[in-house]
Amino acid sequence: MNYTFNSIATCEMCSSTSEHHKIMGQRLNQSQGLFPKNKVGVSVSIMRCEKCELIFSNPQPIPNSIQDHYGIPAADYWKPQYFDIDLNYFASPIKKPENFSTQHSSVLLNL
Ligand SMILES: [Zn+2]
Repeated sequence: MNYTFNSIATCEMCSSTSEHHKIMGQRLNQSQGLFPKNKVGVSVSIMRCEKCELIFSNPQPIPNSIQDHYGIPAADYWKPQYFDIDLNYFASPIKKPENFSTQHSSVLLNL
């Protein structure tokens, strides 16, 4: 992958200067997983403008070819386990209102 990196001196939204930009973290050019410090790759800083709250990378990576950035075969990006469906995924959020109505039905009936 070939990137050109543009350093950002002023916020593109409000034109504030770098003393108003705070580092939020780092972002890799690939999936970071739970332990991004153990990954090798190109990393950029993610910044937040304190004046207008715009979030942006600094430097901004500009791919020399769009294929360098998005040219990953779909089979490499979408892993089969992404499509495994857990039929009980929403069981807990659904149970909360059911429990609430059961616990509070006597209060509601006394009105
Ligand atoms: Zn700003």
